[in-house]
Amino acid sequence: MLTPVVDDDGALFWEYAARGELRVQACAEAACGELRFPPRPCCPHCHSFAGEWRRMSGRGRIWSYVFPHPPLLPEYAAQAPYNVIVVELAEAPLIRLVGNLVSGPGAPLNSVAPERLRIGARVQVVFPQDGDGAEAVRLPRWVLERP
Ligand code: ZN
Repeated sequence: MLTPVVDDDGALFWEYAARGELRVQACAEAACGELRFPPRPCCPHCHSFAGEWRRMSGRGRIWSYVFPHPPLLPEYAAQAPYNVIVVELAEAPLIRLVGNLVSGPGAPLNSVAPERLRIGARVQVVFPQDGDGAEAVRLPRWVLERP
């Protein structure tokens, strides 16, 4: 599996993910308070650099999805057909995360039958323990609220 490249702006996102928490940045200006993702130093709405990481419920809806076709990297080709979904967060529908719908934490990328995917389906984030060792990144994945 490919693992994310962690940069300075996103480092805290991955630290929270390692604890099983989905957090996004929130503007700390009282008059603004907008949530933002992907991580960046400055609020795109009011340009303030004051921010905090706010915990999300981890609930969302499938906004879109695809089934990647070959050519794929060998490790992904072995799991095809699998899905890649775009999830809009319940707290902030304009924030959309790309991930995979799986049947449970740690289940393979092809563990949900393609015909089960529906735009608008409610999903919940999970944080499988991929790889091993202290440097393993916990990549957020998604399960159906009603499997
Ligand atoms: Zn702001």
